Amino acid sequence: MTTITLETGRPSLDLEDIVDSAAEALADASALEIIRWASATFGDRICLTSSMSDAALIHLVSKVKPGIDVLFVDTGYHFAETIGTRDAVEAVYPVNVINVQPTRTVAEQEAALGPRLHGRNPDLCCHLRKVEPLSRALEGYMAWFTGVRRDETANRKNMKVVSWDRKRNMIKVNPILNWTEEDMDNYMSDNGVLINPLHYDDYPSIGCEPCTARVAPGEDPRSGRWAGMGKTECGIHL
Ligand code: SF4
Repeated sequence: MTTITLETGRPSLDLEDIVDSAAEALADASALEIIRWASATFGDRICLTSSMSDAALIHLVSKVKPGIDVLFVDTGYHFAETIGTRDAVEAVYPVNVINVQPTRTVAEQEAALGPRLHGRNPDLCCHLRKVEPLSRALEGYMAWFTGVRRDETANRKNMKVVSWDRKRNMIKVNPILNWTEEDMDNYMSDNGVLINPLHYDDYPSIGCEPCTARVAPGEDPRSGRWAGMGKTECGIHL
């Protein structure tokens, strides 16, 4: 475990102690309890990341911490519905949406590396268009809220609600880690939360358009992501 100490304007915080004790104390806490703890601990040095698949986490966090920065990685390959959901979130919720873009446009990437990199080397494409831009945008924050859930992929089964992000030297807070698909559906319908309309068109998990396919009823909701490519994660949460 890496240990670093940051000055926050309050007494210095030992991040290793925070991660260890919070992960244990909050393991079975509600999403709102986790969000309240993180907001009180990190103040304005925490942000939220969203793929704009839905606004459940944005709705939850904005109740506790209105005005929070919401980072959206605009890869240049998103569905129009996803961009529309981003714009609707910005209009409806009291949050500060930040559009994070890769260093190169899609046209510049194709000129440099050839067309359809996503079909030839999706790991490199995800690194250039998602992982690197997000890591750059996260610099300056001490912690980030994510919307990952344990039931989404095998890689996420052993995650903790508070964890150390070794790649970025910061803390990752996962308030809805323990939620199921049913919990999500109930929260969104009970609260009238914005959702990407692609969910009603057989896209239960939404990423970039070239790498997201429709999923038949009863199939693994994530099976439409990078279908047939042996890839299940973009790399942000690995
Ligand atoms: Fe590229 Fe596909 Fe990854 Fe999007 S999901 S960054 S198009 S490989």
